[in-house]
Amino acid sequence: MPQRRNLVGKLRNKNTLDTKTATLRVVPKAGWSWYCAYHDTAGSGDDMDEVQFMAGAHIHYHQIDGDVCELNYREHNERKEA
Ligand SMILES: [Zn+2]
Repeated sequence: MPQRRNLVGKLRNKNTLDTKTATLRVVPKAGWSWYCAYHDTAGSGDDMDEVQFMAGAHIHYHQIDGDVCELNYREHNERKEA
């Protein structure tokens, strides 16, 4: 019988299912986040200054290879309960 693969994972044996690592999505509830479209990398922090500092480290890291980052900053507001 041929091995069957599906989207959830691969059955190693009758008791073990190896699952693929799902894409990790971080959705901040409040604060700020930065996102680099060039590297598809993101981070979050409490305020704009912190987020710019972290993004600066990201830019510095990739500058060595001559990459040019495309950074976006976003503020997230906690959703008010009705
Ligand atoms: Zn980048």
